[in-house]
Amino acid sequence: MTKRKLIKYSYVLLGLSFICFQGQAQEIYGVHNYTQYHIGTLPIIISVPHGGLVAPASIPDRTCNNPTTVTDGRTIELARQIDTALFNLTGCHPHLIICYLKRTKVDCNRNLADGACGNSEAETAWTEFQHFIDTAQFIVQNQYSDKSLYIDLHGHGKMPHRLELGYGLSGADYNNTDSVLNTPSYIAASSIANLVNTNVSGSTHAELLRGINALGTMLANAGFPSVPSRQSPNTGGFPYFNGGYNTFNHTSLSAGNTVNRLQIECDSTVRFGYLNRKKFADSTASILVRYLFIHENVNLLMNCGLTSSII
Ligand SMILES: [Zn+2]
Repeated sequence: MTKRKLIKYSYVLLGLSFICFQGQAQEIYGVHNYTQYHIGTLPIIISVPHGGLVAPASIPDRTCNNPTTVTDGRTIELARQIDTALFNLTGCHPHLIICYLKRTKVDCNRNLADGACGNSEAETAWTEFQHFIDTAQFIVQNQYSDKSLYIDLHGHGKMPHRLELGYGLSGADYNNTDSVLNTPSYIAASSIANLVNTNVSGSTHAELLRGINALGTMLANAGFPSVPSRQSPNTGGFPYFNGGYNTFNHTSLSAGNTVNRLQIECDSTVRFGYLNRKKFADSTASILVRYLFIHENVNLLMNCGLTSSII
């Protein structure tokens, strides 16, 4: 077993031990507390790579390969409020993975070389973050028989104000008809490819992206304009983020991975201000519960929807 795999499975075992013995969500911190994994029991995983503000002098600012260093402001607070809203609704927590380092020091949504720029402290934090995602996915996929939803949570400052849901497909891809989006090549390029094959709602790929029960449509119906959705089936020519490193390496877009996921880029109206975040978090929590019930037949309102007796 390689050192990387050994560390990975150490986290797996550690996570399972905490859950088995204590039956409660537990927290694991990385070296210097730069990263954190809040172990949950829902089939929902949320990672936050760009919300950190910790900027130690021991890690030089990243300058390699023309890096993007903008902080996704208040995304850690937003993830915590979604966590609280899900707990209030279901009595259980999602898995939550946070990087507290500022993006000037590490980028956990880029590859290792670009994300850490060769600094060993930054490399450790980056590796921990990725292993925490692997561990959460391992736990959830086993507990919920391959039914899970992984969200990489971000913030964008572009206009118009709306949520950008990134499934790996390019902005131009959404200019195609539904029948084209339902062809094998587009499904294979999508981070919800597994859900297309396994959903119990009978939904096609295009319907999962922008049909009446698409995540973007549900969010838009709740007052949070989203693309793609039934209301905005394509980008309308505006800039759009389709996903980053985590989208392409921790989903069905990565060989052997069956996790369904998406990147959610949140505009400023849902990130800044406690009450704005709470309104969005409360709506998102109830929509995620409904989404998993409609498409995966997992009822999180009953014993968190657990299908095994692992806890
Ligand atoms: Zn980001």
